[in-house]
Amino acid sequence: MNILPIPTGAYQEMCYIVWSADKKAIIFDPGHDADVIFHALNEHDLEVAAYVCTHAHYDHINALADLHEKAPAPIAMHSKDLAWAFDERNQGPPYYPRPRRPNVEKFEHLESAESWTFADLRFQRIETPGHTPGGCCLLFPESKIMITGDTLFKGSCGRTDLPGGDPRALKDSLSTLKKLSEDIRIFPGHGDDSTIGVERATNFFMQ
Ligand SMILES: [Zn+2]
Ligand SMILES: [Zn+2]
Repeated sequence: MNILPIPTGAYQEMCYIVWSADKKAIIFDPGHDADVIFHALNEHDLEVAAYVCTHAHYDHINALADLHEKAPAPIAMHSKDLAWAFDERNQGPPYYPRPRRPNVEKFEHLESAESWTFADLRFQRIETPGHTPGGCCLLFPESKIMITGDTLFKGSCGRTDLPGGDPRALKDSLSTLKKLSEDIRIFPGHGDDSTIGVERATNFFMQ
């Protein structure tokens, strides 16, 4: 399995393109810079199998509509985040564009299945509310790769002071992640990758 990190937008939000031998890709958290993401798809000769959002914050979903127009594919997000993803509640700073709703009839609700398969890529959903109500981490068990969104960062964790944030829920979510195998590599929504083992040993919020 291949994973390509692409930092996007003013907040350097991390979009990840994941694919395997058949060249069909899942795009996680297409925050901004649709043209850059699209260029990377072409460069690696990839076809989009799905778009998956760890959560709905504006810095993670702003390129969805543009990408989906060029490369239509199912879009998966937890319905608790979908509820406010494309309305005024998801407004960042005033200068910041509010996410445009992709032109799809229906979204896939991440909570409706424990595990998801798109093309030959299979991941498990781990619900990790706290940063947002519908936040999820997505784990590829065979490759031991986990996309953690803004729940767990290298050396830190997501803030809980934004609308819908819940410090107690985040604490529970972090204890869930702490129990996972230490050799799982984590790929957060901002910053560098790490492993569960390193975070368990060094991340204050995992103590
Ligand atoms: Zn966020
Ligand atoms: Zn973020």
